[in-house]
Amino acid sequence: MVSPIFFFARRPDRGGLAINESMTSHTFPTPFAESYAQTMGNGANQDIAILISGGLDSAILLGEALKVHPCVHPITLRCGLYWEAIEQDHLARFLRAVASPKLAPLVTLTQPVDDLYGLHWSTTGEDIPDAHSPDDAVFLPGRNVFLLAKPMVYCHMKNIPTLAMAPLQSNPFSDATPEFFQRMVGVLNQALKGNVALRLPYLGLRKRQVMRRGRDLPLELTFSCIHPQKNIHCGACNKCAERRHAFADADLLDPTPYANEVNQCTA
Ligand SMILES: [Zn+2]
Repeated sequence: MVSPIFFFARRPDRGGLAINESMTSHTFPTPFAESYAQTMGNGANQDIAILISGGLDSAILLGEALKVHPCVHPITLRCGLYWEAIEQDHLARFLRAVASPKLAPLVTLTQPVDDLYGLHWSTTGEDIPDAHSPDDAVFLPGRNVFLLAKPMVYCHMKNIPTLAMAPLQSNPFSDATPEFFQRMVGVLNQALKGNVALRLPYLGLRKRQVMRRGRDLPLELTFSCIHPQKNIHCGACNKCAERRHAFADADLLDPTPYANEVNQCTA
């Protein structure tokens, strides 16, 4: 059975992305959705699972989902990466801060990658890409394959009709294109004889737009760092630089304590 998924195609006139629904290579653009609820359409009336790491984008996605869906199931994937323990601490605090009767308990799935990556910066914490490194320095092979595979199976087994994740328009990687997501979800539903939909509400948005949508959430409890120091953001890695820029570009006060600034103040 061919199952529906929703994905996004570029609208060159606005630099944004419009919703399309198809399992084929054909796309049928619809008007650009200005809000989360508009993006979700009739799917807003259904339960949803949110892939959440604890970073800004996925935390904001969960916050928006809680305003719309009858039940939100947060799912996180632990792969054994260097920063995950601290990331998980922040995620737990964020979820406590936004707790509501609509928020289901966090589901933690595991997908160890140390056997694949070996002595890689993401598993050792050594030679972490710094604030001046290019975007592709933080590419993790197979990342979105892992992020989709088990959570999609989980949704299928638990009869959760939709899974959402928060890649942005600016994601430069080959496993974050509409075509990749379309094919990946098609293969998984084929394997499962399933019908789980994938939603990517931010794939047409810039970071600034997402940050402004989440400005009322406890963003100080999110975590973006790949080289944490003393359980807080290092302030010097590739992802900390991206985080600083995200707050500044959205004209929001950055509440994050950065270790390199704390050290300077107490020296
Ligand atoms: Zn950092």
